[in-house]
Amino acid sequence: MPDTPVATLLIAGTWQTAPVTFEVVDPASLEVIGTAADAGPDHARIAVEAAVAAARGWAELAPEVRSGHLRTAAAVVRERGEELAVLLSRENGKPLAEARGELSGAARMLEWAAEEGRRAYGRVTPSDAAGPGLVLRSPVGPVLAITPWNFPASMLARKVALALAAGCPVIAKPAEQTPLIATALLEILQSTGLPDGVLQSLTTTRPAELVDALLSGPGLRKVSFTGSTEVGLGLLRRTGDRLRRTSLELGGHSPAVVLPDADLEAAAAGVVAGKFFNAGQSCTAVNRLYVHEDVAADLLALVEKKVAALRVGRGDAEGTTVGPLIDRAGMEKVERQVADAVEQGATVLIGGAPAETGLAGNFYLPTVLTGVTPQMLISREETFGPVLAVQTYGDSDDVAQLANDTEYGLAAYVFGSDLRRIWRLLDRLEFGVIGVNEPSPVRPELPFGGQKNSGQEREGGSEGIEAYTEVKAVALRF
Ligand code: NAD
Repeated sequence: MPDTPVATLLIAGTWQTAPVTFEVVDPASLEVIGTAADAGPDHARIAVEAAVAAARGWAELAPEVRSGHLRTAAAVVRERGEELAVLLSRENGKPLAEARGELSGAARMLEWAAEEGRRAYGRVTPSDAAGPGLVLRSPVGPVLAITPWNFPASMLARKVALALAAGCPVIAKPAEQTPLIATALLEILQSTGLPDGVLQSLTTTRPAELVDALLSGPGLRKVSFTGSTEVGLGLLRRTGDRLRRTSLELGGHSPAVVLPDADLEAAAAGVVAGKFFNAGQSCTAVNRLYVHEDVAADLLALVEKKVAALRVGRGDAEGTTVGPLIDRAGMEKVERQVADAVEQGATVLIGGAPAETGLAGNFYLPTVLTGVTPQMLISREETFGPVLAVQTYGDSDDVAQLANDTEYGLAAYVFGSDLRRIWRLLDRLEFGVIGVNEPSPVRPELPFGGQKNSGQEREGGSEGIEAYTEVKAVALRF
């Protein structure tokens, strides 16, 4: 890989630059580390035509052949894992160990889609007097995949792998903050010999304009979007007079409930991992901790000790466990939420201020706030930063109701051992993904996605392939 990588566009089988490019910045140092082509509406029109032209041939290929491309790409991602992890860590700021984990997750997703694409089964219904019925599944058609910067490799791999496996051409639209790792992954996929137009990539600084151009005609049959709830809802509103399948993976505001019988050491480790992973910039990050009053003091002592041991710094520096926030706006949101909470009576147990690193990027100390109440901004807005908001509850409180008191419904966590209590919570929690004594509940085998304003449809599991297929009901008369 060159020292200053360039993200080019992939359109109709050809890698190409654009008349205008934009700079890609290392969020730790704010130095320019690469450039990317800035695609506009003209590129969009050509890409849609190419995707439409490629759709039938790709859909008619044997699933086994499509799977072969994904398996080959997964093997290359694993082989080049270290080089890709360094690029991901530099471009996004996350610690190298997390970048390695994300790339391994991307490879697992490619492998899962390769396997699952061969099992996009339909079904046969029992005969009535006329004859049996069939339920057939066919690829939905050309897909637009829009991805965020916080997991720029795994989010892209998920969408592209599932779409390709199901038989759909894809136009990828990576986030403007992280086009380099996205382009590196797409290059790996394209170099498996994909037919022209099956995989395309458009990087841009003008996402709204580009996406509007891509969706202006009937060519793209599905949009799969991962990003903020605000932009996702905006996409739905802009559908206009044409229905189009839309998968939305949006923001979150995850609660973690610690039951009084939890293994406190494991719960503290789980909460700290679930919160401070990716500097808190995860849609599944623990935002709100509800701990039973009988164990609150002991749990918080353990949490504080573990948070004190976290190391803030450049993602690629030895020992770093918490990297920078992606930009100034991310930092300001964190500062605003902490100031609001403190003003309304919360206490800073640890952290509560920007971190001094000597670097130009936006670093914030891993922070724990206690005495948080539901009215505070931090209890309502996604934080997307390294701040944990703690509330205690007692036997007379309905903790499921407290946890559900949010517009979001992506991930929730329960730490405890009484199966009956855990099961009751599983029944009541309105979240798409739940980790029980498990701080990282995202697995290729499981459907991933949210309820309420956190999204619709699922990625991963067998539901992930279904999201890229249409159903046809066939009634047979013999
Ligand atoms: P964002 O919504 O700003 O951007 C996401 C993507 O949408 C980017 O590719 C961006 O270029 C594009 N985009 C921006 N404005 C657009 C517009 N008007 N029309 C079309 N596309 C547009 O989000 P972000 O800041 O990149 O990511 C952080 C958000 O993503 C958080 O809210 C986080 O919770 C969410 N997220 C959700 C999941 C999930 O699976 N549910 C995963 C990761 C991140």
